[in-house]
Order: sequence, then C-alpha cells, then structure tokens
Amino acid sequence: QTALSNADADVFKAIQGELKRQQEQIELIASENIVSRAVLEAQGSVLTNKYAEGYPGRRYYGGCEFVDVVEDLARDRAKELFGCAFANVQPHSGAQANQAVFMALLQPGDTFLGMDLAAGGHLTHGSPANQSGKWFRPVTYKVREDDHLIDYDHVAAMAEAEKPKIIIAGASAYSRHIDFKRFREIADSVGAYLMVDMAHYAGLVAGGVYPSPIPHAHVVTTTTHKTLRGPRGGLILSNDVELGKKINSAVFPGLQGGPLEHVIAAKAVAFGEALKPEFKQYAQQVVDNARALAAVLVERGLKIVSGGTDSHVMLVDLRPKGVTGKATEAQLDHALMTCNKNGVPFDTAPFTVTSGVRLGTPAATTRGFGVTEFQQVGHWIADVIDSMNGTDEADAAVAQKVAGQVRELTRRFPIYG
Ligand code: PLP
Repeated sequence: QTALSNADADVFKAIQGELKRQQEQIELIASENIVSRAVLEAQGSVLTNKYAEGYPGRRYYGGCEFVDVVEDLARDRAKELFGCAFANVQPHSGAQANQAVFMALLQPGDTFLGMDLAAGGHLTHGSPANQSGKWFRPVTYKVREDDHLIDYDHVAAMAEAEKPKIIIAGASAYSRHIDFKRFREIADSVGAYLMVDMAHYAGLVAGGVYPSPIPHAHVVTTTTHKTLRGPRGGLILSNDVELGKKINSAVFPGLQGGPLEHVIAAKAVAFGEALKPEFKQYAQQVVDNARALAAVLVERGLKIVSGGTDSHVMLVDLRPKGVTGKATEAQLDHALMTCNKNGVPFDTAPFTVTSGVRLGTPAATTRGFGVTEFQQVGHWIADVIDSMNGTDEADAAVAQKVAGQVRELTRRFPIYG
C-alpha cells in the first residue's frame, strides 16, 4: 500500500504496468535510459511545490533559499562535467533548449543550417512541422549517398551559399563521430554561430568516449535523459559568459515561467553520478556494446547505415531482408525488445513505414548488459527478422520463443528490484 495506490488506483496501476514493462523487456530505444533511484527520489520530491522564477540569488519569489542551493549545484556540476564556463539547467526539454538558442540568436525569418531530418537530424533543427521550420528559414545538409557520412565540403558550400546565422551540428540518428572543429571552421568562414545539439551523445562526451563539442561550439544544447542518464529535461552550455546572459533571458522570461526545481534537483544528482569514475566505464561499455551488437547484425546479413557505429546508436537498414521498419518494430515488441522504426538515408518508404530501425545500447548497458549479452540480443533480433517472411503462425512462434529467453535474461539483470 502506498499513498498513490490508496488515492488513485488507476494511475498507480498504469505506473506498475510500466515498471513491469521496463523490468521485463530489453530497452533498445537509443534515446532512453534507466535512471537511478536517487534521481527518481529527487524528481519525486517536495521541490515540485516551489515557484522560483528567475535564477539563483535573483528570484521573483520568496522562500527560494533551498532551491537556489539545488540549482547552483546543478549548474556547477554541469560546468565541471563538461568543462565550460556557463550552464543553464532550466529548459524543460531538449526542444525548449533549442528554442531558447533560436530565441537568443535569431530573428523570425532568419536563415539557419541544420542536418536534414531524413539524414538523421532532429525535428527542432528545421522540420517544416516544427516551430523551427515555421518561424525561421531552415536550410539543410544531408549525408553522402555512398557512405552515409556528413560531407563537410557540402556543409561548407551550403553555408557559403546561404549565409546562415546559425549552423547546427548534432543529430538523432547519426552513429559516427562528428568533426566539431571542422564545423566551427565552416561557421567562422561565414560569420555564423555554431550550435551543437549533443542530446544523443552527452553521456558519451561526459564519459570521455565521444569528442567534446565544448571547445568548438559557441553554444551547446542537450537533453539530460538520454546517454547522460538523468531526468527528462534540457541543458544549455557555453564558454561565452556574455552569450550565456542572452541565453538566460531567452529561457526566462523569454520562453518559460517557473523552472521545474524538482527536475533540476534530479539533474544535479545525475550530473553528480556522471562525475564519478564509474560513469566513464559505463560510457565505454555503451560504445563497446553497440559495436558488438552491430557486428552480429552484419554477420547475420543486415546492413548498418555507414557500416557501423562509434557511439551508442545504430541505424539498421532492413532492406536486405525485405521487411519494413514498422513491421520489425512491432515484431520485436512481441519478442520483448523495444525499438523504434526509423528512416534510413534516402529512404523511399513512407516515414510512417520506413526501411530501418534505430537501436541503442544506453538503457540495457545501465542494467548491466555487456558484450556477451548484446551479442545474444543481436542474434535474437536477427532470428525475429528472419522469421518475418514466414507464415503468421511461424513468425509468432519465433517471437514467443525469443520473448521467453528475453524474460530469463532480464530477470538476471533486474532493475528497481
Ligand atoms: N535534440 C536531439 C538531437 C534529439 O534527439 C532530441 C530528442 O529526441 C531533442 C533535441 C528533443 O528533446 P526533447 O524530446 O526533450 O524535447
């Protein structure tokens, strides 16, 4: 019996259902992770009751002495973790962190250059469906058709032709290292700001296994809940304190009202965890696991976009097996492995169907999976995909058999037990 189960059985039951789902399945969604109990506790704290518009020491409400401590801890730890001079920990999400940078540095109608959504970019980097694409003038770069890598000469040519005010580096489905130094040279050559959205890589950057954009970018945005393993939220970093002042004004009062101090407390806890030496081992394991998973999938006849991965994520091109992303996502779900369908570069399938799935290792690595477990996962994924050209009953039998094996494995690596 808990306060919640007594007060609201319906919500309690749904949360218990989600807990069981997370415990039993293997989370392969590249943008998800499993936070510590300490992070959960901070986020579920009385800080949710507190209004604290403004910044530590300069609030528009009384009674902020304790939330000031928490927000200062979060800012200081973020700066230490990433080695930079400025941090704003208030954005409610990654999308809002990006929006704040646009608000600080662009006027409506201004041009910016970002990675095409179809090449692995994010909605907030100029999709016509997103505010970034409606209120500004986005121009985009793609990846090369032959090797699926960023073509820096093409980025430079686009920058020269379009004279963007901001160039964005960073993506949601790009598995390779990004040359942030080269991006900065391109930005400097046209007088643009370089904004790096490292949402996917932040934990790997913190752990020292992915190149840091901090020395090169004017401003860096990120989510805190992906590889960084914190609560859902956003974060903005810079080495330019003057630019930081503009960012602060854009976040509050430009875009947001009261900051979510309970989430900021959870961010502080997560940054503290990421500063520990164990986090470096975690980050390295995430990448080792991704390489091991990719290698098995290739061995089993699947294609990995760009041929492999340098990070936590990979895009699996399913076309050699003649199945769609949509069907594969659903069938893997039956086998208790959760992932998302994702277009591959130059995909001709509709975006609601796609020819690929995106897989990531951050969450299952947190629960203790190593290379051996991920090799096994690779074989299970391939078994399920290979079964998909059979009859419905045969497909279901394979998925069911794998689901049983997944349950055994996840029981050996319990979470929130
Ligand atoms: N930027 C990138 C590169 C992302 O991958 C994402 C989320 O998937 C975001 C921004 C948006 O973050 P949020 O979902 O917290 O708004």
